[in-house]
Amino acid sequence: MGFATAFKSFNPSALVKQSLGADSTTVHRTLTKSSSSLADFAHLISPAAVEFLSPLSLRSQQLTQQRFGKVIRLFAPLYLSNECINNCKYCGFSRDNPILRVTLSVDEVLKEARELLSQGFRNILLVSGEHPKFVSTNYMADCVRALHDVIPSISLEVGPMETNEYRPIVAAGAEGLVVYQETYDRDVYTDMHTAGPKRDFDWRLETAERAYNTGFRRLGIGALYGLSDWRYEAICVAAHADYLLRNCWKAQLTISLPRLRPCAGEFQPLTHITDRELVQLVCAFRIMFPDVGLVLSTREPARLRDGLIPLGITLMSAGSHTEPGGYTGAGKQKLHHTQRGRIIELGASEWAAAGPDPHATGQFDIADERSPSEVANLIRRLGYEPVWKDWDAALSA
Ligand code: SF4
Repeated sequence: MGFATAFKSFNPSALVKQSLGADSTTVHRTLTKSSSSLADFAHLISPAAVEFLSPLSLRSQQLTQQRFGKVIRLFAPLYLSNECINNCKYCGFSRDNPILRVTLSVDEVLKEARELLSQGFRNILLVSGEHPKFVSTNYMADCVRALHDVIPSISLEVGPMETNEYRPIVAAGAEGLVVYQETYDRDVYTDMHTAGPKRDFDWRLETAERAYNTGFRRLGIGALYGLSDWRYEAICVAAHADYLLRNCWKAQLTISLPRLRPCAGEFQPLTHITDRELVQLVCAFRIMFPDVGLVLSTREPARLRDGLIPLGITLMSAGSHTEPGGYTGAGKQKLHHTQRGRIIELGASEWAAAGPDPHATGQFDIADERSPSEVANLIRRLGYEPVWKDWDAALSA
């Protein structure tokens, strides 16, 4: 049985209720256990566990150092295209947003990758909107093939594909696939995804398994915090991770904890998770899943990112741009609008409005604007080693 089927009989609301009803005795007992169930996870993210943040943090820190050493792996997102056929209310790339769009050529992708290489990165996440006309399977495979000789570790965060579409991309050298469910709350999911193939909740939920079955050996999952109740989302992510660890056990698993950021379209978060609750959540994920990588992106401000480094995070992006061509200006002469899949050239006044340094619209605003070397120096100052490659690649180098 796949996770989408198992999820239909899963009752996250019952665990949320347990979480909200947990008392300090329950949290204390949970903290003394050597392994955790989903019910224990619910206790660790409970309001009652807030007063246990110190022991939670200590346990999380100890587990992380035992399993990963004092190491933070760094990666950079490389946006290939901001074309998209979906409308997701919270995303700047939504098809109805009149943004400046571009799809990089393979040479332009290589140029961006070489810039990231010069900054130190050896671990790159290729990101794209979902648009089969502009971002085809062949295009993805060509990009991966071109990068494979220069970048040791390539992952993708692109629209979900069929199994046979993943195969050539894996054969070209892609190792990792990241797919966030965005929200595990079906009603909110339906409301947020108003047009396009992404409306199919179950299809997206099965993506990690499809990717695993075609040979991806690193899988990344997560929810986008700000759409539904954060405890509900976290419990579902934990259930999903638990399923993947048991059924896709040859893969390395990572969990990301993105919170909604401002973007084109001006969508406002529907729910809120405080910084303190985010810290609690990182610790709870670490205690529940000692060997799972925990990812924190530049969506979060520098101070919070720095504080989370010793507590359980193992993988961070740095110096990120969320627009195609963001690192070198590649593709800026091809900027356009897209309507119903057709390219609409910019008029003279639009080029003028784009200013002297025009660039494609980004997916969202980042909060930590430090350069990769500044982030790496900070990691060192905290007594950790910044590692620019993927873990496996680092071990086999
Ligand atoms: S979240 Fe993804 S699928 Fe939705 S509009 Fe943005 S890029 Fe497209």
